[in-house]
Amino acid sequence: MQHHPVTVVTGGSRGIGAAVCVRLAEDGHDVVIGYRSNATAADEVAATVRAAGRRCVTVQVDTADEADVDRLFDTAAAELGPVTALVNNAGVGGPVGPLAEADAEGMRRALEVNVLGYLLCARRAVRDMKARGGGAIVNISSVAATLGGPGEYVHYAAAKGAVDTLTVGLSKEVAEDGIRVNAVAPGVIWTEFHADPQRPAKLAAGIPMGRSGQPSEVAGAVSWLLSDDASYATGTVLRVSGGR
Ligand code: NAP
Repeated sequence: MQHHPVTVVTGGSRGIGAAVCVRLAEDGHDVVIGYRSNATAADEVAATVRAAGRRCVTVQVDTADEADVDRLFDTAAAELGPVTALVNNAGVGGPVGPLAEADAEGMRRALEVNVLGYLLCARRAVRDMKARGGGAIVNISSVAATLGGPGEYVHYAAAKGAVDTLTVGLSKEVAEDGIRVNAVAPGVIWTEFHADPQRPAKLAAGIPMGRSGQPSEVAGAVSWLLSDDASYATGTVLRVSGGR
């Protein structure tokens, strides 16, 4: 019998994903960390999860690669048992600047990771969750989906718009299977995501709360959406953005 939720967090090695892993462990989840290249960072997060008394495995994965995604979920099931939840978080910004100057390869890669990667992970999660009778998915979107990212990354904002849409559509498609699908849309968060490391400080004045957010402030929203307290919430996009 399975006693604890088993949750796959893509991009769990750094930033928002790492904070989500730590918070989920505190809230009783066993955690599967998917990371792209930084094994040291993934191992550090795994040690924190284990210190909280929960089980953890790390898997190197490119979420835009179909075979890699299947290996991620196969490893999760083999090591920790049936997957009960997915946090689709692994994302990249791609080229920064006006669209007129963006290079096609950079945009293609960003769309593959931010959209196809989310779809591949969600597809496999839904297959597994249907087999075990339910589950929950949280997609990490962005306020860029509604703000549009002008001058910075319109292509990225468009990808996050797709994340919001897949959240709505998939939530309706799998509601009767006992699977809830929601999104969290962070505002500017202090992570290594930004091409300019000081971007969170520079944008603070334009945020109603006057500051950028911490990864831990996003993690609580993710944990709530995965919890039984959110049992009637599906298809929603929860903005966590200091009012932006
Ligand atoms: P981050 O600090 O740059 O961390 C990115 C994470 O994703 C790392 O763990 C990285 O692995 C992993 N990753 C990247 N590409 C991957 C791939 N193809 N396959 C597997 N893993 C991959 O980013 P973050 O700020 O935490 O962002 C997390 C999510 O929040 C993203 O979806 C982002 O769009 C969204 N978001 C961020 C902000 C913000 O202001 N930071 C705001 C709104 C939304 P490695 O450690 O191995 O490189």
